[in-house]
Amino acid sequence: SSLLRFAPSPTGALHLGGLRMALYNHLYAKKTGGKWILRIEDTDSTRYVPGAVEGIRQSLEWAGLEYDYAGPGKGGPHAPYFQSERLDLYRSYTTKLLSTGHAYRCFCSVDTLTALREKLARTGSGQSYDRRCLHLTEEEVARRVRAGEANVIRLNARNGARIPRIATPDLVFGHLRDAHGSVATDPILLKTDGYPTYHLANVVDDHTMGITHVLRGEEWITSLAIHLDIYSALGLEPPLFAHIPILRNADGTKMSKRNGDVKVEDYIRNGWERSALLNWIALPGWGSLHEPEPQTSPDDSTRTTLTDAGSPPLLSKHDPRPRTVNVKDAPESTKVMDMDQLIAEFDISVLTHRASSLDPGKLAYLNREHLLRAATTPTGLADLAGRIRLWMDADAPLGSSPEYSTPEYIQSVIRLLDSRVVNIRDIVSLAPYLFVEPDYTSKLAQDMIKRATPEQRNQILRAVHNVLAGTPDDAWNVPILHDILNQEKKQRPPLQGLFLPVVRHSLTAMKDGPPVVEVMVVLGKRRTLARMNSLLP
Ligand code: GLU
Repeated sequence: SSLLRFAPSPTGALHLGGLRMALYNHLYAKKTGGKWILRIEDTDSTRYVPGAVEGIRQSLEWAGLEYDYAGPGKGGPHAPYFQSERLDLYRSYTTKLLSTGHAYRCFCSVDTLTALREKLARTGSGQSYDRRCLHLTEEEVARRVRAGEANVIRLNARNGARIPRIATPDLVFGHLRDAHGSVATDPILLKTDGYPTYHLANVVDDHTMGITHVLRGEEWITSLAIHLDIYSALGLEPPLFAHIPILRNADGTKMSKRNGDVKVEDYIRNGWERSALLNWIALPGWGSLHEPEPQTSPDDSTRTTLTDAGSPPLLSKHDPRPRTVNVKDAPESTKVMDMDQLIAEFDISVLTHRASSLDPGKLAYLNREHLLRAATTPTGLADLAGRIRLWMDADAPLGSSPEYSTPEYIQSVIRLLDSRVVNIRDIVSLAPYLFVEPDYTSKLAQDMIKRATPEQRNQILRAVHNVLAGTPDDAWNVPILHDILNQEKKQRPPLQGLFLPVVRHSLTAMKDGPPVVEVMVVLGKRRTLARMNSLLP
């Protein structure tokens, strides 16, 4: 069965593009009854960022993309899964290549190489090294190695011409011109410090770990010829490749912070639902759900941007946290799917070849849908309740009480706030008074009641409090409370315009919000009365 790998370099936090790659590996593995591993490609110490591995693992764990088979922290049949801990292995492969003439030592200094590169650049040959060390005699090489002269090991790529490359069609791009292109310059396999380059380590690991399918970003297509040459030189059969079109900004530029967050941890911090985020990053380029794309030749490398056709952005692309979503505007192509559905619908053969982009409006739409779905199951609700509690603890450390976080309560809150809730944070920020005591001290709260004198306020609150206190528990519902408030209001014509603001103020201390009787129902009789009472002298 299939074995895949997600092989990030620990150069920083996991980005959406990386998460998408992990997700696609996961989907393909699950789809084909296979597995995937996590491998850390940390052979470039200059780009290593401390803490990056932990960050990547945390983001994957949050997303529920657990490498179920092998990887850092889990061990596995081919551990270690950090390339920096596998140096002997790579060296043994270069020894093999040296002995068969498929690799050679190069003693050129950095200065020599820089000068050569500049000279060769002027010839326009695409080469950056003239293979001069290929022609050193065996004796000279041996002498310089004995003398401890620094050297790198290069692939003798021209030799590859004698051993045909095996290039099966790419699972996404089909026939790839790059797979047959010539390798202009003998690539370095082992650096002077004994570390392998990405190319060597990647090939050796994919082989030794038994990887059957390599799903990776399309930016690696240009490395494919080198990799296939290394496989040939080692007499190994390469795995199957699927290069995944990368995500871009809507304007076609490389995805960047400018159009919203790109780090997964930012989305976690901002309260997005994991299932919504995965749904969102899975869909771009997902051909089965979109209009057929215009014909392009299979190896066409020109890129046009595709903001998934047929789906007008719900909201401005520049607003990374849209506040409202009209559900009726749900884009046709934005299908709400959980992990099981994603696995069921995933089909690598219909992925578009073109780079596509992420629309923040769709995330808002999907997030709300996933929230509503979660609120329909007991486990989903319990999970929401727990998370809302965490948000409250962060945002309002004052008085979050456990009675505000039962599943039933959370469900009633979501129903109450209804279409205003896009993100779990909204539940807390739109109506903090549903979780903590209202903040009567804010300027806004005071403005709400400034037209009423203290006597008028007391009069209204006392009257409403008394009649509500006499209302039986089983009559605590919207129609009855509505009638009660109306009657009380009608009995006091001079206070009419002040009535609702004063009652709302006592319960919420916020000017805007759902109908006040609905707030009363969600708060319940005891809390409603207590709040009114707290304002009475
Ligand atoms: N280490 C590479 C990266 O960070 C992975 C390339 C590959 O999957 O072959 O993107």
